[in-house]
Amino acid sequence: MSNEKTSFNDASRRKRFEKNPINGTKYTIAISSAKGGVGKSTFATNLALALKNLGLKIGLLDADIYGPSLPKLFSINQKPESKNGKLIPINKYNIQCISMGFLTEEQTPMIWRGPMVTSAIKTFTQKVEWNDLDFIIVDMPPGTGDTQLTFAQEIKLDGVIIVSTPQELALQDVKRGIAMFDKLNVNIIGLVDNMSFFFGDDGKKYHIFGEGGVKRTSEEFKKDFLGEIPINSEVGKFGDLGKPIVESLPDHEISRIYLKFAEKIKLSYLQD
Ligand code: ADP
Repeated sequence: MSNEKTSFNDASRRKRFEKNPINGTKYTIAISSAKGGVGKSTFATNLALALKNLGLKIGLLDADIYGPSLPKLFSINQKPESKNGKLIPINKYNIQCISMGFLTEEQTPMIWRGPMVTSAIKTFTQKVEWNDLDFIIVDMPPGTGDTQLTFAQEIKLDGVIIVSTPQELALQDVKRGIAMFDKLNVNIIGLVDNMSFFFGDDGKKYHIFGEGGVKRTSEEFKKDFLGEIPINSEVGKFGDLGKPIVESLPDHEISRIYLKFAEKIKLSYLQD
């Protein structure tokens, strides 16, 4: 009797920790944020482009079902074709892209319940013909909801990067995000402080949202602090044009910061 119980427990435990890898990629890295508007999608797209500039094969999965950003940020307005029951990602800037925004009209409100979100995520991870990628970068929706749970429990995530701005209010939610990923055994690669300061005309640094908060939070939770990205109006400008700064101006100081992040990630996962 007790043996039966043990084997059932073992089987259910195994099942719980069996996570599906996304076919067609070596590694899957999620970009998450506690709040909306902190620059998560901007980070995900520019990081993907910087990794591509290092010669890697990259996919971008926009998992923000409710508010997809990729159609705008990459200026994509075509629908993906399907072949043998699988969606073919759209190739833009030499990156394989999928977003719910490719499948719906721009103005359609996304009124989706939990199980529908789960099934959309399954489609994007199991029914897309991702082809021979080194990394898929997943742009998560903000917060700690159904998408994060589905990914963390069912998909093999190799790591997550948490993007935040330095305000106290954002940091409160970052702590919740860290607790969630820790609890779900997802490796947190580190935290990024976006829009941390800007250089005034006088050449001085202005920390308008407070200073050092993201770094302090990293230290408090013993996570790596990956670095800061200053506020720079060019970032928003090129995002709005549908050709992010790393693609438009690869030598810009902001693009160089992204390249450093990309190099760090490449080094941690790929040996050569
Ligand atoms: P999220 O995905 O977290 O909702 P977005 O990536 O859409 O945030 O960014 C929100 C806004 O902030 C956008 O207008 C974007 O261009 C702008 N933004 C992001 N990062 C920076 C930055 N480093 N400097 C200036 N503007 C930025």
